[in-house]
Amino acid sequence: MKTAPLTTEDVLRDLVVAIDGPAGSGKSTTARRVASALGFRHIDTGAMYRAVALKALRAGLDPEDGEACGAASEATRIEFRESPGGQTVLADGEDVTRDIRTPEVTRAVSPVSAHPSVRSAMVRQQRVLAGEGGAVLEGRDIGTVVLPSAEVKIYLVASARVRAERRLQELRAQGVETTVEEVEADIIRRDEYDSGREASPLRRAVGSILVDTSGLTIDEQVGRVVSATHDTATRLAALEPVRGSDVSGPFSPLYHFGRVLSQVISRVFFGLKYDTATNVTYNEHYIYACNHKSNVDPPFVGSCIHHEIHFMAKSTLFRNRVLGGIIRAGNAIPLKRGVFDREAMNQVLELLRENRSLMIFPEGGRVFTDDLGRARSGVGYLAVNSETAVIPMFVSGTNRLWRCLFRRERLHVSIGRPIRLAPGTAGEFADGDGYRAFAEMVLEAIRALKDEYESRPDTVKG
Ligand code: C5P
Repeated sequence: MKTAPLTTEDVLRDLVVAIDGPAGSGKSTTARRVASALGFRHIDTGAMYRAVALKALRAGLDPEDGEACGAASEATRIEFRESPGGQTVLADGEDVTRDIRTPEVTRAVSPVSAHPSVRSAMVRQQRVLAGEGGAVLEGRDIGTVVLPSAEVKIYLVASARVRAERRLQELRAQGVETTVEEVEADIIRRDEYDSGREASPLRRAVGSILVDTSGLTIDEQVGRVVSATHDTATRLAALEPVRGSDVSGPFSPLYHFGRVLSQVISRVFFGLKYDTATNVTYNEHYIYACNHKSNVDPPFVGSCIHHEIHFMAKSTLFRNRVLGGIIRAGNAIPLKRGVFDREAMNQVLELLRENRSLMIFPEGGRVFTDDLGRARSGVGYLAVNSETAVIPMFVSGTNRLWRCLFRRERLHVSIGRPIRLAPGTAGEFADGDGYRAFAEMVLEAIRALKDEYESRPDTVKG
C-alpha cells in the first residue's frame, strides 16, 4: 500500500532551525521570535554554557581547569521553560535566568566553553533537547557540530560596532553602566576566543545561509529566517516524503542478487541490525558516508540501504580478474589511492548528476582503532559539486566478525539524517577549505551516531 506524501505543513512541523553567529549578531532575539512565529521550541545553547560557568564560579573552580569544569557540566541538567514573561533557564531545577547574565559569568564563559569535556556534555544535552524537530537552536556550532543535519542553517553576522551598540542598549536597560568602546572590545575579544579555540571554533557551516544584520531591522531579520524555513518545507515536500522507510529499489538483477546474499550472510550469520534516525523517506538520491573498519563494509552496510548504490574501491583490487569482476558487478568504481584521482571523481560526479546514489568512506580507508579517523576532503568535493545531500552512517562490529558470529558483540549500522546545502550556497564553498569543512561536518555527524549508539544501555562493547 502506498501512503500519501506528507504535506508542507507536516514537513514544517519537524524541521530544525540552526542559528549560529558571533556575540551580539542578534541570534537570541532572532531565535526567540522565529520560534514563536513558527510555534517551535527555542533552545539557547549560550545560556547552557553560561549555566555551567555560573556553577563553576559558585563552586570556586578555575575556569581554565578542563577536568573540573567538565565534571561540573556532566552533572548539570539544563531545562528551558516558556512563560508569557519570557524564557526561564533552569539548572538542576534552580531558576538561573538572571544570574547567568552577570559580567562575571560573561567573562568566565568563553574559557569554560572552550574545554572539549564541557562541550561534549552540553552537545549531548542539546541533541536530546532538539528531539524530533520543531526547534530553533542558537549558538556557535549548531550547524557545524551539534546538528549538521538541521534542515535550515543560518549564519548571522554584523560589524563589531553595530553589535556593540546593540549590546550596550541591552546592558543599559539592565542598569549596567559602560561605554560602547568597552563593549566593542569585549565583543572582539570573545570573537577571537571563540574562533581561535581548538574545540568547535566559531565558523560558518558549509551550505548555511549568510545573513548580514548590520543594516536590517529585527523584523526583517526574523522575516528572512522564517521565510527560509517555509521555503525549505516547500522544497522538501516536493520530494514526496512518506512516513516509514518501505520504499525500496529499483535494483538491477545482478545487484539485487548480491544484495540479498549480503543480507542473508550479514543477518543470519552475524546478526546485523540497523536503525534509521528518521522515519521519513524522500524520493531522492544520496551520498552515503560511513566510517570504515573492514572489507565487508561495502556489502554489509550497502545491504541496509534501500537504493542501488555505487562504491569506490581502490584500483589495486581490480587487478585480480575474479575479484575485479565481482566488485564491478557490485557497482564499484576504481579509485587510485594516495592521489586526487580526478578521472574517477568526475565519473562519480556524472553518476550523481544522473540521480544515482553513492557510498563513500570519508576517512579515506579502513581505521583500525576504536576512534574515528580524520576526514578526507573527497566527500566534500562530491557533495558541493553535485549538490547532493549526504547521509551519515556508523557501522560497528565488522572488524570483529568472530565475536559477532558467536553473538558476543553486535553488528550494527546506524543511518543518520541527510545533511543538505541550502540552495544557491554551494558555489561559496567550492574550494579546498569548503570541501574540508564539509567533510569535517560529515565526520561530526558520524561521531554523533557513534556516541548515540555506544551510550545505549544494551550495546555490547568489544
Ligand atoms: O550567546 P551567548 O553570549 O550567551 O554565549 C555565551 C558564550 O558561550 C559565548 O561567548 C561562547 O563562548 C559560548 N558558546 C559556545 N557555543 C555555543 C554557544 C555559546 O561556545 N553553541
